[in-house]
Amino acid sequence: MIKIITIIGARPQFIKAAALSREIANYNNIEEIIVHTGQHFDANMSDIFFEQMEIPKPHYNLNINGLGHGAMTGQMLEKIEEVLVKEKPDWVLIYGDTNSTIAGALAAKKLHIKVAHVEAGLRSFNMEMPEEVNRILTDRISDILFCPTDTAIENLKKEGYDNIDCQTIKSGDIMQDAAIFYSKKEQKPNIEIPEEFILATIHRAENTDDPSRLGAILEALNEIAKQTPIILPLHPRTAKIIQNSEFKTQNLKIIEPVGYLEMVYMLNRCKLIMTDSGGLQKEAFFFAKPCMTMRDETEWVELIKNNYNVLVGADKGKIIDTFKNHIFNLDFNINLYGNGIAAKNILNSLK
Ligand code: UDP
Repeated sequence: MIKIITIIGARPQFIKAAALSREIANYNNIEEIIVHTGQHFDANMSDIFFEQMEIPKPHYNLNINGLGHGAMTGQMLEKIEEVLVKEKPDWVLIYGDTNSTIAGALAAKKLHIKVAHVEAGLRSFNMEMPEEVNRILTDRISDILFCPTDTAIENLKKEGYDNIDCQTIKSGDIMQDAAIFYSKKEQKPNIEIPEEFILATIHRAENTDDPSRLGAILEALNEIAKQTPIILPLHPRTAKIIQNSEFKTQNLKIIEPVGYLEMVYMLNRCKLIMTDSGGLQKEAFFFAKPCMTMRDETEWVELIKNNYNVLVGADKGKIIDTFKNHIFNLDFNINLYGNGIAAKNILNSLK
């Protein structure tokens, strides 16, 4: 029997864990214990994913949220360690690049428990992003690094991982597994969906915490929305900042965050994605939609290289101009992310 402890705490991790947990359930010699750190805790950022995606109920809920990076990561480290000491798993499984990821990796490593990092090897090369710091440190102490792309493998090679005592494996992207499985279960959101629309999200700290960037992005979206309706399911972080600001958003259809099945409904029907989310950039590709990314760099460089996605930063003129004039590659028939067999690859390796 192999005992795995999965550490999750934020929305994108719930989606990734949903896909892998489904596969784990097919093995009767693997036991999975889920620890929810509590990083995202509101109903529409957490509970809805567990319900809709049928993720097994967390065995532990650490309830750690609403704190600065240091306090949040520190408390997670302490509480995860307690769980690991009690449960004595063979593996700790962590996803992506959040504070829950680094806390899980560090707690496990100090107890000599093996660490498997799903979505390893990604780099934005922007050390001001908290996510970049989390990824680099997590990768360095992981025992198996499951890389979604060739670029991720290359990044690790350049950092000397050939000489580090760990395994790097190209598993493909677990989010594609989720997209393929759940797209059949789409649910219409409880709002009117126009015939033609753009789906947008904004939540990265580099945009929300910089009024000039957030202002420019919202002005551009507000302008574009005069021509094509924009649906913006708004992350609580961004909602709070907009509420306390003078930013104009009157042309945008702002809604509360939705569950993944509603998101999939809109991904299936929208004309374009505009986002600063990591996950959504790939989902644009999985659902064969062009994407504009409102960041200065991205970890998903293969989308840029192949002209499925354009980096527009927080530059109002560039955002509007790209929307009006850019011709995107619309032939989505290439395999960049493994075509949905990442969960199988990951479990075969862990076994
Ligand atoms: N998402 C969702 N509901 C929303 C907005 C996003 O289910 O209201 C999904 C989205 O489709 C993607 C994931 O959440 O799968 C991305 O999460 P987020 O943008 O918070 O994080 P990132 O991917 O940037 O780490």
